Amino acid sequence: MLPAVLMDIEGTTTDIAFVHEVLFPLARRALPDWVRRHADEPGTREDLAAVRRSIRERADAVNLDEIVARLLAWIDADQKETALKSIQGRIWREAYERGDVKSHLYPDVAPNLRRWRAAGSSLYVFSSGSVEAQQLIFRHSLEGDLTPLIVGYFDTTTGPKRSPDAYRAIARAIGRLPGDVLFLSDAVAELDAARVTGMRTMQLLRPGSARDTSSTHPAAADFDEVSRSTP
Ligand SMILES: [Mg+2]
Repeated sequence: MLPAVLMDIEGTTTDIAFVHEVLFPLARRALPDWVRRHADEPGTREDLAAVRRSIRERADAVNLDEIVARLLAWIDADQKETALKSIQGRIWREAYERGDVKSHLYPDVAPNLRRWRAAGSSLYVFSSGSVEAQQLIFRHSLEGDLTPLIVGYFDTTTGPKRSPDAYRAIARAIGRLPGDVLFLSDAVAELDAARVTGMRTMQLLRPGSARDTSSTHPAAADFDEVSRSTP
C-alpha cells in the first residue's frame, strides 16, 4: 500500500512570507472596520462576547473601540486567542472569496499532489493554522482549487506539532499505522516528533529556510525530489 502523505503548510507547501507578509497584515488592516460591520452577526457576536469578558467583568459596559483595541493588542503580542483566530479566519474567507487574495503554493506542489493522489496515496494536512484557514489555502490557491485532492486536515486541537502524541492521534484518525505515513515538513522538531511514532519523514529545504545541520532526516528541495526519492 502506498504511504499516506501528511504535510505541513508553512515552509513546506507554502512560502512562510505569504502567511507573515500577506495574510496576517491583511487581517490586521481589515479588522477594525470588519468588527464594526459584523458585530451583530451570529458567530461574530459570540466571539466579541468572549473579548468583552476578557476586558472586564461587566461585559455589557465594553464598547466596540475597546474590543478592537484588545484584538489588535492580541495580534501584536502574537496571542493565539480562540476568538481572534475565529475572526481572522472570517476576514480571510471574505478576502479569498472576493478574490482579493490567492494563496501561495510552490509550483511543484499541485502537480505532485495530483500524481500522488492518482497513484492511490491519501493526502492529509497538519498545520498550526485552523482547519478552516488550511482549507482556504488549498481552495483559493494560485494553482486553483486543490481541496478535492485532500482527504483530511488536522490542526493543533489534535496536539502540538512537536508532540509525538499528535502524530499517533493522526495515524489513528486516518486508520493507518504510523509506518504507512510519510510526513513532510521543514521543521526538524516536528519531523523528530513524527519519527518517534514510527512515521516516515522527509525535510523540505525551501529557499530562505535555514538548513539545520543537526537534522538526520532525508531531505528534499521540493516535491519533485520527494517524488523521486519515495518508492
Ligand atoms: Mg513549517
